[in-house]
Amino acid sequence: MAQAPAALKQHSIPYFLPTIGEEEIQSVVETLRSGWLTTGPKTKQFEQLFAQKMGAKHAIAVNSCTAALHLALEAIGVGRDDEVLVPTMTFASTAEVVVHLGARPVLVDVLPDTLAIDPNAIESKITSRTKAIMPVHYAGQPAEMDPIVDLARRRGLRVIDDAAHAIPASYKGRMVGTLGEITAFSFYANKTMTTGEGGMITTSDDALADRMRIMSLHGISRDAWKRFSAEGSWFYEITAPGYKDNMTDVASSLGIHQLAKADDFWKARSERAAWYTELLADVPEVATPPLLDHVQHAWHLYVIQVQPERLTINRNQFIEKLNAAGVGTSVHYTPLHMHPYYRDVWGYRPEDLPVAWNAYQKIISLPLYPRLSRTDLEKVVEVIKTICRENRR
Ligand SMILES: *Cc1c(COP(=O)(O)O)cnc(C)c1O
Repeated sequence: MAQAPAALKQHSIPYFLPTIGEEEIQSVVETLRSGWLTTGPKTKQFEQLFAQKMGAKHAIAVNSCTAALHLALEAIGVGRDDEVLVPTMTFASTAEVVVHLGARPVLVDVLPDTLAIDPNAIESKITSRTKAIMPVHYAGQPAEMDPIVDLARRRGLRVIDDAAHAIPASYKGRMVGTLGEITAFSFYANKTMTTGEGGMITTSDDALADRMRIMSLHGISRDAWKRFSAEGSWFYEITAPGYKDNMTDVASSLGIHQLAKADDFWKARSERAAWYTELLADVPEVATPPLLDHVQHAWHLYVIQVQPERLTINRNQFIEKLNAAGVGTSVHYTPLHMHPYYRDVWGYRPEDLPVAWNAYQKIISLPLYPRLSRTDLEKVVEVIKTICRENRR
């Protein structure tokens, strides 16, 4: 008889749990029964709803945010020996897609409080080869887009924003998804809404939208996904060596319901973020994250910074103690320039981007999701307070 698969060992307060309702489950089952599993009517519907929600002209569903970023750079023509500016405080995807296109990722330092790309650090990195800037809306708080977009206009650069953390978020009243020329979103399992794996691209540019849609499905002509339906035709033409980045209807049926709940999820996370900030206000050993007043923060991550001058233990030891007390945490991120690939291949040293390097030694991401109860959140805070009390300098 087959063995039941081993369950993953969980912390008593896990770092993350997705919120999947009966609606999502029913809808996936319906799609499975419908006979149309891959890109089809559910995906079209998901794209329309997403575009509407963000106020974007076009939305293109893909199978990851990484694919979205890759398609975006391909569409604006990033190629061999071009340079693309990427904040070092981000996930692997933002910079790896630059390398995949034969271009050079030029890593940029971040601001010490928001950990978003430092607009003032960008200009000195621009060369005659620079093609684009890729701001990341770190933790869900929009990057300072106005100075970045202004600078890009003045220097003839393109702006592709990585909004993997930023559903829903806005900057000076404008939704993320309408700020850059192309925006890339993630529906990975632990993001603010999920399709398991998945992503979305938004843009207001018709030509870019066309290019990305075609390249997302083998470079074959428009509406290629319809070729197995009564509306479609067997005939297609390959116009470019495209990729296989399309989203399935199974995933989209999940996404449609997650999108409908995105504002409720956001309210729940914002409330929890406010609880942390309030309950940690009298704990000088940890700094709580800033909230800018001209943005709506999506609160994907709640990142505290331990204060080494006030503690006898370092960040790693702090995490070990949280772990021992059953509290799951994470670190977002080890800056890209500190990873072996970027050190060895691109020659970065930790001190080259000192703000991110310094912040890296202090940051801890706390549990933040709608299913985290007030009681559990208070327990997390109590554990933090105990660790601080026992290890105060
Ligand atoms: C999660 C994440 C990605 C990648 O998203 P996928 O959908 O897993 O490809 C890209 N950038 C950032 C900042 C992320 O957090």
